[in-house]
Amino acid sequence: MLEITNPLKTETPSPGEREGKSQAIVRTRLTELCLMLLAMALYYLAARTGMQLFALKPSNITLLWLASGIGMVMCMRHGLMAVPLIILASFLANYPGMAAAKLASPVLYTLVSATADGMAGLVAMLMMHLSLREGLRKSTDLLQFGLKVCLLPTVLSSTIISLNLAVGGYIRWDEAGDFFRMLVLADSLGILLIYPLYQAWCDEPRIRRSETAKLILTSLGIATLLLLAFRGHPGFIYFILPVLLLMAFYVSMNLITLVLTISMVAIIAMTGQQLGPFQSASLVEANFMLICFVCTTTFTILAMALHNRQLQSIEIARQEWQQAAQVDVLTGLNNRAAFLPMLTEEHLRAKRMGRPYALALLDIDHFKKVNDVYGHQAGDEVLAFFASLMQANIRGIDKAARLGGDEFVILFPESGAKDAAAAMERLRQRLEASPVQTSLSQICITSSIGITEYQGGDVTAEMVRTRADQLLYAAKHAGRNQVMFDAVTDEAG
Ligand code: GH3
Ligand code: MG
Repeated sequence: MLEITNPLKTETPSPGEREGKSQAIVRTRLTELCLMLLAMALYYLAARTGMQLFALKPSNITLLWLASGIGMVMCMRHGLMAVPLIILASFLANYPGMAAAKLASPVLYTLVSATADGMAGLVAMLMMHLSLREGLRKSTDLLQFGLKVCLLPTVLSSTIISLNLAVGGYIRWDEAGDFFRMLVLADSLGILLIYPLYQAWCDEPRIRRSETAKLILTSLGIATLLLLAFRGHPGFIYFILPVLLLMAFYVSMNLITLVLTISMVAIIAMTGQQLGPFQSASLVEANFMLICFVCTTTFTILAMALHNRQLQSIEIARQEWQQAAQVDVLTGLNNRAAFLPMLTEEHLRAKRMGRPYALALLDIDHFKKVNDVYGHQAGDEVLAFFASLMQANIRGIDKAARLGGDEFVILFPESGAKDAAAAMERLRQRLEASPVQTSLSQICITSSIGITEYQGGDVTAEMVRTRADQLLYAAKHAGRNQVMFDAVTDEAG
């Protein structure tokens, strides 16, 4: 019976498949929504914490606005959809303080400031896309990041917020300059601390097991230094820099950014509680000292961590290139450049310790004809087949390589020519008995093989190689498809 099949059948999803797909889409959207709401809650919490923990008393202006970094990350993940949520979270966090001032229209003035916060997140995200599409990858990216992603959006939003609050009477006009500056610094710091942390954990969401001990040790070290610095020994604060610096050399980005952010947040929070080394009669001065320390430390550590990561990836690329330069792409065997040093090393070892080794040179017979009759592609397939058969017929310690064209070599450590010749005779017979199945047709090939071994008088490996070459030449002349060897040592088996 003739069965008529519809070629489009497989491309049209069944109702069950369609339902499954739409369920998956609904699930993804729900997850996305939950994540956005979670981020909004985090924004609110960070903003409230900023007001309560990071404000230098008696001023109520915060020194650190982590919410700006969270807002930027929200925009990066959810695009424009994040902006209303940022505005709402900022509004909810700021309104109680504004309402408490008992001035006119707190809703309006809070809304304007909250909108400026939403805009800052959006501008930071746009600047990141425009200037650093790949994220923070090199230490030199930090300049663009500092200027365009941290400073520019926060200068814009802080200008709007300062003017808005001054017009509304929430701050005096003569305070507006200081207010603006503190706002810019607090918001910029928020982005500087949060974004690298976010990026590092997106790149590597787990802690490497090997780094756990380093993490615990350095965290304990930093906690001790902080304790000392904030309990009457202010100078200890400066030892945090070298500890973090060492950490930046030895651990991955996710850990260093985590420890850095926690340390800097702790320093700012404790200074906010009027503890520690950054105290001064003038609020502005104290604020400036703190921000200088935190910014310098953060920039230095990020630069070092990024630079170190860059060096590591260069080293990995170098090793890959080095490996690639030693492998023959067609056959996967070592190439001439990789093989010759191995031979020299084995030769020196043989001379030093009197250990034997044998060397076989192999050349496919009439290989040019294969290319001429079946084409270059088939020729390549023959070469690859020959290499794999060779590999399958030698021991793990033997080293095979392609010297070039259809010429191959095998080094047999700890072997004399007789043993090597026995192995090569088996290979020759197998090759003769197994035609190569190329994509075009079956091709029968044979190989001539010349084998020699290290002899006491061989000053250089080149002398051994020349002898093997002469034996290969002799095998060709004697009619091809044969093994020729010379052996001076007696050996078992
Ligand atoms: P003989 O029995 O004397 O060895 O004869 P032959 O035809 O094999 O001669 P020779 O060993 O000199 O031929 C080597 C040929 O291998 C010449 C060249 O065109 C071909 N060849 C070299 N490299 C490649 C390659 O990568 N792929 C293919 N398909 N052919 C190659
Ligand atoms: Mg040949």
